[in-house]
Amino acid sequence: MNTTTETNIIPLLQGMDEEFNFFTVIGCMDGRQTKPIEEFIKNKIVSSGELREIAVDQILGPGIDAILAGESNFASPEMYKKMAEISANHHGSQVAIVVGHSSCAGNITTDEGHKKHICASLETVRNWGLFKKIIGVFVDEQRRVKVVAEYSQTTEGEARADSAVPVSVSDSDSDFVSDPATAA
Ligand SMILES: [Zn+2]
Repeated sequence: MNTTTETNIIPLLQGMDEEFNFFTVIGCMDGRQTKPIEEFIKNKIVSSGELREIAVDQILGPGIDAILAGESNFASPEMYKKMAEISANHHGSQVAIVVGHSSCAGNITTDEGHKKHICASLETVRNWGLFKKIIGVFVDEQRRVKVVAEYSQTTEGEARADSAVPVSVSDSDSDFVSDPATAA
C-alpha cells in the first residue's frame, strides 16, 4: 500500500494565485469607505461567472485623491505607485478603483473639489501604465458610490471625465447605493 502524501500535496501548491481575482483600491485611509467600495466591486465590477475569491489590495493614504492630484504634501505619489506595482505586477490586478469621499479629514474640500481631484488622480494612475481599467469613484455623505470618471485601455486610452459612465454592469444605473444598515 502506498502511503505517500506527495500526490495530495502537489495540487494544493499549484496555481494558488489563480484562485484569487485581485482588484486594487487606491483610496483614503478612512474606514467608512471600506464596506461601500467592497460592495461596489462585488456588485458592479466582478463578472457574474467569476468563481475565484475576490481579493482587494488596498493602497490607502489620508485624502489620497489630493495626493495623487498633486494637491497635498502628505506623501509622494511615487510611494503609491510602488505599491500599485506590487498589486499589478505580482498579483495580476488589472482594475484599479480610485476613491475620494465626502467629509474627508485628509482632503478638506467640497464634493465637487473631490470629484476634480478624483479625475486628476485617475490621470496620474493612468500614466503609471499598470492597469487596463481605472474607475474613479466618489463616496458621498450617505456612503453611496458614484462613478465620476473611467478609463479603459480598450476605449482608445482616453480618460473620460464625464459622469454617469456605466461600468461593465448589466443595468444602466450608474448610481450604486450601499446601505450600511443592510450590508452584511
Ligand atoms: Zn478621507
